[in-house]
Amino acid sequence: MSPIVLEARDIYKSFTDGKSTVDVIKGLSLQVNQGEFVSIVGSSGSGKSTLLHILGGLDSPSQGSVNLNGKPFDRLDETERGYLRNEHLGFVYQFHHLLPEFTALENVAMPLMLRKDVEFKKAKAQAEYLLERVGLSHRLTHQPGELSGGERQRVALARALVTQPKLMMADEPTGNLDRKTAKSIFELLRDLRQEFNMAMLIVTHDEQLAKSADRILHMQDGLWIKE
Ligand code: ADP
Ligand code: MG
Repeated sequence: MSPIVLEARDIYKSFTDGKSTVDVIKGLSLQVNQGEFVSIVGSSGSGKSTLLHILGGLDSPSQGSVNLNGKPFDRLDETERGYLRNEHLGFVYQFHHLLPEFTALENVAMPLMLRKDVEFKKAKAQAEYLLERVGLSHRLTHQPGELSGGERQRVALARALVTQPKLMMADEPTGNLDRKTAKSIFELLRDLRQEFNMAMLIVTHDEQLAKSADRILHMQDGLWIKE
């Protein structure tokens, strides 16, 4: 058995706005093993993004627990959660979330620069390597506004992987891209996963990407459903 990188137990999430409560996640559990590729599919509004944010420690569940590499998010304070994420997790958002006033190289080096023990030279070299891997060696000093949608998503991928995380999570990473660009991003994901031996948890609408996973989970109305 491979070691477990992510374990979530009995996750519930409700949002309350004072007057009403919406139950979005209604009792979900999940395990992801080292090196495994799991995809999550489901119609819009089924709770996929909410779940992914909880699994990535970006939001807290109303009930239930999430362990990343054996460490429970709910027993850590905000700073420790940040360190845990920085050490083991790469997160790719549907919209790139790059910092507009920084270059591609600076954006990608950022997760390493946040570590006190990493020298600037090393961070820069590692960021350059990742940008080369995603085919952007010629765009190091461009800012996000000077890049195409596909290029920005490649930079976001490079940033997520610059720390060589055990697990990458992505929320519809190809959702805003045309078919051809989306295909080149999958191929890249597949190759990088092999190169870094990392697990991937990907929310996607794209059947082709979903099907290339080791395991597909179908979500409906805050619960897993059997296909
Ligand atoms: P998906 O990613 O599958 O499209 P989401 O997780 O974004 O679905 O949203 C699931 C449901 O949760 C939606 O009905 C959405 O309106 C609701 N929701 C998400 N975030 C919030 C929030 N912060 N406050 C209230 N409702 C929310
Ligand atoms: Mg979503």
